[in-house]
Amino acid sequence: MLVQNVYQLIGHTPLLEIPIEVPNESHIFAKLEMYNPGGSIKDRLGMTLIEDGIAKGLIKETTTIIEPTAGNTGIGVALAATKHHLKTILVVPKHFSFEKQALMKALGATVINTPDEDAMAGATKRALQIAERIEDAYVPNQFTNFDNPHAYEHSLGPEIISDLDGRPIDAFVAGAGTGGTLVGTAKAIQSVSLNTYTVAVQPRGSILDNQPKGPHRTEGIGVEQVPPFFKDVRIDEVQTIPDEVAFGWVKRAAKDLGLLIGSSAGAALAASLKVAEKLPVGANIVTIFPDSSERYLSENIYD
Ligand code: PMP
Repeated sequence: MLVQNVYQLIGHTPLLEIPIEVPNESHIFAKLEMYNPGGSIKDRLGMTLIEDGIAKGLIKETTTIIEPTAGNTGIGVALAATKHHLKTILVVPKHFSFEKQALMKALGATVINTPDEDAMAGATKRALQIAERIEDAYVPNQFTNFDNPHAYEHSLGPEIISDLDGRPIDAFVAGAGTGGTLVGTAKAIQSVSLNTYTVAVQPRGSILDNQPKGPHRTEGIGVEQVPPFFKDVRIDEVQTIPDEVAFGWVKRAAKDLGLLIGSSAGAALAASLKVAEKLPVGANIVTIFPDSSERYLSENIYD
């Protein structure tokens, strides 16, 4: 494959039929999003936020992009910004992985850390405050910007449908951070397959099951409030996966399958296996593996 720039490599990731025994002789298909050039599912979002911002006249040559992020969106935005030589400031709660923050800086972004106890709400508040002080600033804000689910509705969803080449999609299982991936992809799938059983995955400590919020090690998923995008699609179930279960699957995927996945992918795999138990025999379950374990080595992901 000959390409002219790395931006052309965003999307069109492989869909892996996971070679493990699944309850009820079902099949789990995982979209391997670590094969995007910035290493995660969020390259799709970064490119959409920048290109849509330019198309809407919100981003000019002189604009500084400011975004609150747990990391992968920051990398995606910084990567897309290099295409237009735009300045980026990324606001990240301090504890998020060293590797992600190093990659954002390598891509030319300025990284500002906020206290962990202020969580993503604190990072968002800080991003908006910084934007007020800069004359020509744009905060895409992935948490409220409907370009976020649209990015997945128009890329990841159609890719999955095409990858499966007419096979029915009985269930779609995806982690929720902003909810953009889950909602956008589910919208695309439900538009061709109305009854696809749709499952949101969260770590324990996230509030979608009406339990109190609390800390978790699983990185990239988990919400502090119900994402505004959720009203746009039917979600049939929430699966809460404890950290130890997600990390257990991260280790098994590496040892048994040669598959290097991050903890949100471990949670997605655990949830998919649980969903298989309640679906009819031979069901097709589609899930998303957002990134790779390599960006969590400093956090001892395999220990
Ligand atoms: N997994 C990882 C590793 C992520 O970085 C993210 C994005 N925060 C997600 C899952 C969840 O994606 P979304 O924000 O679209 O819900």
